[in-house]
Amino acid sequence: MDPVTLAILVAVVITLPLVAGLIALVTVRRRRNRSSTLLQPAEPRVGDDAEVPRDTATGTVEEVELPTLPRQPTYETPAPVLGRLTRLRARLARSQSSLGRGLLALLSREQLDDDAWEEVEDTLLAADLGVAPTQELVSRLRARLRIEGGGSPERARTVLREELLATVDPTMDRTLAVRRHEGKPGVVLVVGVNGTGKTTTVGRLARMLLADGGSVLLGAADTFRAAAADQLQTWGERVGVDTVRGPEGGDPASVAFEAVREGAEREVDTVLVDTAGRLHTKTGLMDELGKVKRVIEKQAPVTEVLLVIDATTGQNGLVQARVFAEVVHVTGIVLTKLDGTAKGGIVVAVQRELGVPVKLVGLGEGADDLAAFDAEDFVDALLDAA
Ligand code: GDP
Repeated sequence: MDPVTLAILVAVVITLPLVAGLIALVTVRRRRNRSSTLLQPAEPRVGDDAEVPRDTATGTVEEVELPTLPRQPTYETPAPVLGRLTRLRARLARSQSSLGRGLLALLSREQLDDDAWEEVEDTLLAADLGVAPTQELVSRLRARLRIEGGGSPERARTVLREELLATVDPTMDRTLAVRRHEGKPGVVLVVGVNGTGKTTTVGRLARMLLADGGSVLLGAADTFRAAAADQLQTWGERVGVDTVRGPEGGDPASVAFEAVREGAEREVDTVLVDTAGRLHTKTGLMDELGKVKRVIEKQAPVTEVLLVIDATTGQNGLVQARVFAEVVHVTGIVLTKLDGTAKGGIVVAVQRELGVPVKLVGLGEGADDLAAFDAEDFVDALLDAA
C-alpha cells in the first residue's frame, strides 16, 4: 500500500465515527425539542391507565354520526311600522285627487253661489261621505266662509282642512289592543265578508306586529275554504309565524280555541284569528261568530274585533258592515283597497254608521301596504292631491 492510500484510509477510519456521532446527537436534540412542545408532561394519576386497554371499543369512521344541520329558512323582514302612512301617502293622494282638487277649486271661487255649494255637496256625496256628514260639513263651510270670507285659495284650503279634519275626528282612539294583558296573549278576531281582504289583512297585521317586536300565532278559523287556510299559512311562513288550522269543514270555534290555547302556552304576544265571511243568513253568522268568540273567551278575552271593509264597495259595504256589527262587538275598522277608489269619504261614513274608528287602511296589494290610520295624514293626503 502506497503512503497516500494509507493516509486516506486512516482519515476515513477516524472521521466516520465522528460524523455518525454528530448526526445522532442532532436527531436526539430535535426529538427532544419536539416532544417538549407537543406533549405536555402529565403526571399519571391514581386510576389512570398507562395505555388504552386492549378491550376498549374503538370507534370506526363509519360509526361516527354526522350532525344533520337544520336548513335555516330565510324569512322576510317586514317594513317598519312607523311612518307607513307617510310612505303610502302619495298613493292615497293619487286615488283621492278628484275629491281634493274638486273641493278646493270650488271653494276658491270668488263668488260662492248656491250652484257652487250644490257642486260641493255633490262632490262630497260622490266620494261616499254619506248624506248627513255631507250636509253638516257643507253648512259649517258655508258659515265659516261667509263670516271669515273665502275667495283666496289659501283661505279655502285652511278652512277646508280644519273642517275635514273635524269630520274625520282626530279624537277617536285608534290604538290596537293587541298586546299581552294579565299574562294572556292579546286576541284579535278579524271578521268581514269574503273578498274584502280579510286574510290579507291578518297576514299584513302579523307582519306589522313582528316589525314592532311582538310575537304572533295565527288561527285559521275559516274552515270552509281550505284555500283560505293555505293562504293564511303562506303569509305566516313568509315571516316565520306558525298557523293553527283544523280539518276542512271542521268546527271554526274549535280551531279558534286551539289557536288561543296554543298561543297562551307559547306565551306569544298576539293571536290573530281569521274567520269565515260567508254572509249566509244573519242567524247563521250570529251563531257562528258568537260561538267562536264565546269559545275563545274560555281561554283569554278577545281584545280586538276588526271588521274589514272593502272601500271600493262604497255604500254596499256599509250595509254588510252593519250586519256584522250587530252580530259582534266591533272595536275597529280596517278599510282596504283605498288605493283603488276615489271614494275616501267612506272613512267618515263608516265611522258614523258604526260609531267605531277606522284603525287600519290598505293601500295596495303589497305585503306591507297596510298602515295605521291617522286623521291628519289622511286629510293632508286629500289636499296634497289638489
Ligand atoms: P278575503 O276573502 O276577505 O280573505 O280576501 P283576501 O285577503 O283573499 O283578498 C282579496 C283580494 O283583495 C286579494 O287579491 C288581495 O290582494 C286584494 N287586496 C286586499 N287588500 C288590498 C288593498 O288594500 N289594496 C288592493 N289594491 N288590493 C287589496
